[in-house]
Amino acid sequence: MIAERILGDELMPIYEKVTAGVRLDEADGRLLYKTPNLTGVGYLANIVRERLHGDRAYYVRNQHINYTNLCNKLCKFCSFYAKKGGPAPYTLTPEQVKQRLRQYLHVPITEVHIVGGIHPKLPFQYYLDLLHAVKEVRPGVHIKAFTAVEIVQIAEVAGMGYEDTLRALKQAGLDSLPGGGLEIFSERIHQELFPRKIGGEEWSEVARAAARVGLSQYATMLYGHIESIEERVEHLLRLRELQDETGHFLALTPLSFHPEGTELEHLSHPSGYDDLRNIAVSRLMLDNFPHIKSFWVMNTPAVTQVALWYGADDVDGTVHEYEITYQDEAPGERHQVLTRQQMIEMILEAGRVPVERDSHYNEVPPRPEEKVLVTV
Ligand code: SF4
Repeated sequence: MIAERILGDELMPIYEKVTAGVRLDEADGRLLYKTPNLTGVGYLANIVRERLHGDRAYYVRNQHINYTNLCNKLCKFCSFYAKKGGPAPYTLTPEQVKQRLRQYLHVPITEVHIVGGIHPKLPFQYYLDLLHAVKEVRPGVHIKAFTAVEIVQIAEVAGMGYEDTLRALKQAGLDSLPGGGLEIFSERIHQELFPRKIGGEEWSEVARAAARVGLSQYATMLYGHIESIEERVEHLLRLRELQDETGHFLALTPLSFHPEGTELEHLSHPSGYDDLRNIAVSRLMLDNFPHIKSFWVMNTPAVTQVALWYGADDVDGTVHEYEITYQDEAPGERHQVLTRQQMIEMILEAGRVPVERDSHYNEVPPRPEEKVLVTV
């Protein structure tokens, strides 16, 4: 049998579980990270990926807005926040946000993704105005905004609890929460790399509050810094537990750590090998997460193409302006774009079927004015 040849005795017990739909445990997670047989891990992840999504590979047309890079959390892994010798400080006014949105009004974007630093002086009204500004320029767009760290800050300046804060933001136009802010569920790493920021317990409290007010959420895992295999597995298991409880997470994005411009510059760069393994293990461990994403900006389009056979079913978006990992251009001039056509070609070349989605993974039919460039 081909599975036995690919998986060998080591991974066959996991194959039996995967094909029977049995949940994998901690020991399985560790083995999947430690085995040199990455092809076998990818083969297993692809079984789950194809069971859930067949040949479909999702993408979204979106625009990223990073409204401020002023931040008082000083995370060691972060190259984004303003500091001496690093990026110059900026904060966008709601009017400037509108201008950025108007730049791309000709593109039928369905999602605006907004995150920023923790700027202690921004009042509650600023966040409400930001949401109103987006909905004014693009009334029907889905706003995915504010990581749990930002929600904690906004709740503090609002003088309200998480649930009331989220309700008010929802009222102003917020549709879902992005995943960042947690990085990895490990108190050791929290203390070592981002002690000023919230830890896993508080992040989970915000997630529970979001679920209660009816907001969907995404999740991430930052890997490739100082975390151990055991901590990666623990992170996935804790996310799985939380999802069992809330059911409101839509996708996990494993995010590779890029050391350039951070206090951890001495660490090595992420490898395609590690990217593929994290995607595959995430797909296998998170049996209650509908989607696993390979974010092409972080993983490169080339690794993302292979990742579509290693558990990923989503390549993220066309992404206009993403300032989190790239510091070599002035703010507002950091354009990272794959056009819809390039996105389609990237997916087709990998042998999958491209499907444009909205933020809730509903299929977006091609607009009548758009030429069908490729028939699948
Ligand atoms: Fe601030 Fe976020 Fe960077 Fe931490 S990761 S320093 S919270 S912008």
